[in-house]
Amino acid sequence: MNLKTHYPKKRFGQHWLVNKKILEKIKEVAELNANDFILEIGPGRGALTSKLLDSEIRKLHAIELDYDLIDFLNVKFKNNDKFSLQQGDILSTNLDSFNNKITKVVANIPYNITGPILDIFVGRLGLIRDYNYKKIIFLMQKDVVDRILAKEGSSSSGALSIRMQLLSKIKKICDVEPSSFSPPPKVFSSLVVFEPLKTELRLDITSEKYIDKLLRIAFNSRRKMLRNTLKSIFSTDEINKFSESSKICLNLRPQDLSINQWVNLADNCIKIKK
Ligand code: SAH
Repeated sequence: MNLKTHYPKKRFGQHWLVNKKILEKIKEVAELNANDFILEIGPGRGALTSKLLDSEIRKLHAIELDYDLIDFLNVKFKNNDKFSLQQGDILSTNLDSFNNKITKVVANIPYNITGPILDIFVGRLGLIRDYNYKKIIFLMQKDVVDRILAKEGSSSSGALSIRMQLLSKIKKICDVEPSSFSPPPKVFSSLVVFEPLKTELRLDITSEKYIDKLLRIAFNSRRKMLRNTLKSIFSTDEINKFSESSKICLNLRPQDLSINQWVNLADNCIKIKK
């Protein structure tokens, strides 16, 4: 395909990264080595792909939705045996056979699917467990990154920030201006790195699932006190019992609880239900 006739498609969130410093920065924070198996989501015209392939890595597998870019990418990287490409939607691609091979996930995320991508690559770590992800490096909307990093007491704190912080160490590297992309998006972006916790440092699966359940219930009515939202799954008697054992004031609203308090609350709920 002639790239001159390929115009960026809005519906696929196509904003090519053109800022060389940011491309370099992504490669730098990825800390690539000869054992790395990279999954790249949405290689686009291959700007980031080239940068990553230009390092000592084992493999880079890219998944691109846009048919019109497939031939171009295959030609561009035909001499590179570390590169493989799959046409498909990352949201419906079965990654089971890859998950324990992939060491790093890298993407300039199509903004319209940020939520589901975070859910698959960070949130669902809770279910996969058999992963080998060392780093997940995303260029994504700044406001979502700020929300993910929100601490308790902030109005932005939500189920997303708590789940992400529970499953990984999160580092914001820098903000990225719209002019770093072509065409420029309407919003600022941020470069962020998630380092999933090693399996042995994770909570046990029952606690993780329970926290998810509590988060869903509590943040569904974020203006209500926990004492009231929890009524949908506990009797008043049970609520009083674990309010005492967890030493958490249930007159608080969900955004006021720290990560440790959620863990503590879940553990106490599990004990009471036993
Ligand atoms: N990595 C390139 C392109 C980023 S734009 C760069 O940095 O320049 C986002 C890319 O994701 C586009 O190539 C778009 O076609 C692709 N994309 C959009 N939705 C996708 C999906 N559901 N699955 C896989 N790729 C997708």
